[in-house]
Amino acid sequence: MRIHNSETRRKETFQPREEGRVALYVCGVTAYDVCHIGHARAAVVFDVLVRHLRAEGYSVVFVRNFTDVDDKIINRAAEENRSSEEVAEQYIRAFSEDMDRLDVLRADYEPRATEHIQDMQDLIRRLLDTGHAYATPEGNVYFRVRSFPDYGTLSGRDVEELKAGIRIDPGEEKEDPLDFALWKRAKSGEPSWESPWGEGRPGWHIECSAMSQKLLGLPLDIHGGGQDLIFPHHENERAQSMAASGGPFARFWMHNGYVQVESEKMSKSLGNFVTVQDVFQEHPPEVLRFFLLGKHYRSPLDFTWPAMRDAEKALKRIYQARGNMSAALEQSGGKDAPLPEEITKEADQLMQESRDHLDDDLNTAGCTGSIFSLIRLGNRILENKGWRKSRQGRELLESILTHIRSTGEVLGAFHNDPGTFLDQLRRFKAERLGIDLEEVQRLMDERREARQNKDFSRADTLRDQLAEMGVTLQDGPQGTDWDIE
Ligand SMILES: [Zn+2]
Repeated sequence: MRIHNSETRRKETFQPREEGRVALYVCGVTAYDVCHIGHARAAVVFDVLVRHLRAEGYSVVFVRNFTDVDDKIINRAAEENRSSEEVAEQYIRAFSEDMDRLDVLRADYEPRATEHIQDMQDLIRRLLDTGHAYATPEGNVYFRVRSFPDYGTLSGRDVEELKAGIRIDPGEEKEDPLDFALWKRAKSGEPSWESPWGEGRPGWHIECSAMSQKLLGLPLDIHGGGQDLIFPHHENERAQSMAASGGPFARFWMHNGYVQVESEKMSKSLGNFVTVQDVFQEHPPEVLRFFLLGKHYRSPLDFTWPAMRDAEKALKRIYQARGNMSAALEQSGGKDAPLPEEITKEADQLMQESRDHLDDDLNTAGCTGSIFSLIRLGNRILENKGWRKSRQGRELLESILTHIRSTGEVLGAFHNDPGTFLDQLRRFKAERLGIDLEEVQRLMDERREARQNKDFSRADTLRDQLAEMGVTLQDGPQGTDWDIE
């Protein structure tokens, strides 16, 4: 597999530190609010990475943390007059529920910062002992950025330029404006812990350095997160970890791109956050997941409601194709005709291509593209009665079906039972549009009866009535299928 390494800004052949085993750390959420689609994208991207590596035979140990002590949590708790533990607990639970619905697998370890205070203090102690950090008389501890000459390498920033852009808050006792907090002196009403430097709490960056090293050992094979975390969070994590250990921190850095809404960045000031729950009101979770994988993970992704509807249609097409192929395989008899060898060759090529796309820096969009080409090929076989009946035709349909399903298992999309998915989708839409399913069934039964009695004008009237409700009918040899557009 080749992975684009943010640190070298190149695609490199992935080689873990230990044959067949992958140590993966991904920064999780700060638990102070519900998940928006940007969080969902990061979670889904790294979930596909884990599934793909496992499908390739790697044993993956995956750690994703929860930040449960932070200014944002403390502020929210103060506003709502409750403890930061309560706030964190609520949003960790909300995150887990959203991710379950998106079929994002739980990480092997989901540590919370507050469970690793001692590990963070040990790391801070090491940085103090080696001169990479200093404690102030007030009880703060800072990382000494100038002591780490490699600072800025990951984000591609120049230390002098950075320094020019930093605002110095009055009363700060840093040696250098670039220095950042490892330990913050306690303020009243905030959660705090005993430490050799006085009562306080950890800075944000130190938690990931401490937890990743503790749970996975160094160097990590892959460290991931959203692009917005590269600076300062990942730059600081890297500096602390390398300064403390004297060795490398992460062999590969992977960052997913932003999600925009209608071509604008999501921001508090624009008030244009789209939460995962907002989307779940309009579409089943699998549609959101499929949409999030529709663009290469490093590219920006533009969220719009029409794009979501397109994603739903596309996902539906894959399920319908799977259903049609399975149905064709259940029919037997009839005259067969030899399947041209080019068709088999083309199918093999497309199946290989879809795998290669995932191996090429997790190109999920390319992979899905190959699946659609494969479906078009499958449809050509279905349309040719002779090919469809031939032994080679049937075998090829079988292997196309198996391939689509197993690719779906890696993407976490279009891998469920087609009949079940399509039925759930119809029910979901019926409920959202307020369509009474019993009424639909009654009208359909009545229409079937009218058709049996050759009362075609009555049947047409009923079809129109259903169409007005938003229900479209498709008459086929096996009866009438219905759908909601
Ligand atoms: Zn982190």
